[in-house]
Amino acid sequence: MEHVSTEIAIIGGGVIGLTTALRLRADGHEVVLIEPNQPGSGASYGNAGTVADYAIIPVGTPAILRNIGSLLLDANSPLSIRKAALPTLFPWLIRFAYEALPHRYRDNTRRIANLLSDASAEWTELASEIGGSHLLSGKGCLYLYSTPKAFEAAKRVAAFRRDHGIAQELLSPDEIGRLEPNLPASEGGGVLFPKAINLADPGQTMDLLAASVRRSGVPICQASATAITREAGFVRITAAPFDIRAKTVVVAAGAHSARFARQVDDPVRLDTERGYHLEFDMDRPPVERPVCPTEYGFYFCPMKGRLRIAGTVELGGLAAPSNPRRLDVLLANARRTFPWLGTPSRTWLGFRPSMPDSVPVIRPSKGGKDVIFAFGHGHIGLTLAPRTARMVGELLAA
Ligand SMILES: Cc1cc2nc3c(=O)[nH]c(=O)nc-3n(C[C@H](O)[C@H](O)[C@H](O)COP(=O)(O)OP(=O)(O)OC[C@H]3O[C@@H](n4cnc5c(N)ncnc54)[C@H](O)[C@@H]3O)c2cc1C
Repeated sequence: MEHVSTEIAIIGGGVIGLTTALRLRADGHEVVLIEPNQPGSGASYGNAGTVADYAIIPVGTPAILRNIGSLLLDANSPLSIRKAALPTLFPWLIRFAYEALPHRYRDNTRRIANLLSDASAEWTELASEIGGSHLLSGKGCLYLYSTPKAFEAAKRVAAFRRDHGIAQELLSPDEIGRLEPNLPASEGGGVLFPKAINLADPGQTMDLLAASVRRSGVPICQASATAITREAGFVRITAAPFDIRAKTVVVAAGAHSARFARQVDDPVRLDTERGYHLEFDMDRPPVERPVCPTEYGFYFCPMKGRLRIAGTVELGGLAAPSNPRRLDVLLANARRTFPWLGTPSRTWLGFRPSMPDSVPVIRPSKGGKDVIFAFGHGHIGLTLAPRTARMVGELLAA
C-alpha cells in the first residue's frame, strides 16, 4: 500500500472533479485527485458540448408524466427503459414521477435556473484559464419543432423560460432556413437561445483541463476508490494501491457516486440516464451550432472535424453494455434530417449521473463537511462544472 496524506481528496476526475480540483488548488488548498481512467473520459467526454445555460426545465415535467406510457411504447422514442433494470429502477422512477408533479416541477425549475444563471460567463472564464478559448463557439443553440402544433406548445414553454430570464428568439421556418441553410424545410418553427455557447471538442477540453490540474500541483492517483471511512480526525479512502487520508473528501464520481454516499450513511437516489453518441468524420459539419430536433431528444453538434449526434435517454443502469437498438434509433432519427448520413465513424455510450428531480447534489454530507457531495448533474454537468467548483470552494470556506 502507498500511503498518501492530504488536505482534500477528490474522488472522480470527470469535468466536475477536475474543475473542482483546479478551483480548490487556486484557493490555496492541498488537493489529490483519484481517477482510475484517463481524466475526463467518462460522461464528460462524449456529451453534446453545449454550455446549456437555457436548460432550466427538469427532465421530469407534467407533460412527460402524462405521455410516459406512449413515450416508452414508441420504438423511436428518445426515452426507453431496459426491462431487466426495472426492479432496481423502481424507487428512482417513483420519485421521478413525484418530482414531475406541477408544484415540484416549478420548484425544481427555479432551483436549476438559479444554478445556471452565470454558466456561459463562468465557462468563458474557465476556458481562458485552461488555454481552451479557441474551443468555444458562441452562435447559440437551436431547438426545432417539426409541426405547428408542437411549435405552439413550445411557445408556452418558451414563455415559462422567459419568466426565468432566459433569452430566446422564436423563429419561423424561413428564419431557420436563413440561419441553418442545410436543414430541410419544415412547417413548425424553432427556438434560438442566442447567448448559449458550446465546445467544439469536449474531449480536447477535458485534456486541457486535466493538464491544468496537473500543472497546478494536484497529483492524480490512478486508482478506483472502493471505500471511504470516517476515522478520528480524518477520512480514509481505500483506493488500492493507495491508502489515502484526507481532512475532507469530495465525492465527484459522477454516476458512480451513490456507493460513497451510502458508506457515510447518507444515501441518495442517484441513478443513471444512459446516453449515446454517433460521430461522422467530415471537414464541414452541416450545422453551424448545436441543433436539437426536440421530438427525437438529441443534438446535431458541429465539432472539430466531425458531426456528433448526441443524446437520448435509456434508463438501464451502469452494468449493461451498449444497446445496438438505441444506436439504430438514433441513426434512423438523424437521417430524417440528413438522409445522406452513412455509416458512423464511431459510436459511444455514456452515463449521466441523474437525480429524479434533475437537481445536482452539491452539499456537505449529513454527517459533516468532512465529506462533500458534488454529483448528480444529469444533462447539465458540463454546463455546471465551474459553478459546482465554486460552490464546493464556498462550502470549504464557510
Ligand atoms: C449523450 C450525452 C449528452 C450530454 N450533453 C450535455 C451537454 O450538452 N451539456 C451539458 O452540460 N451536459 C451534457 N451531458 C451531461 C454531462 O456530460 C454530465 O452531466 C457530466 O459529464 C458529469 O460529469 P461528472 O464529472 O460528474 O461525471 P463523469 O464525467 O462521468 O466523471 C466521473 C468520473 O469518476 C470516475 N470514477 C468512477 N468511479 C470511481 C471510483 N470508484 N473511484 C474514483 N473515480 C471513479 C470515472 O472514471 C469518471 O472519470 C450529456 C451527457 C450525455 C451522456
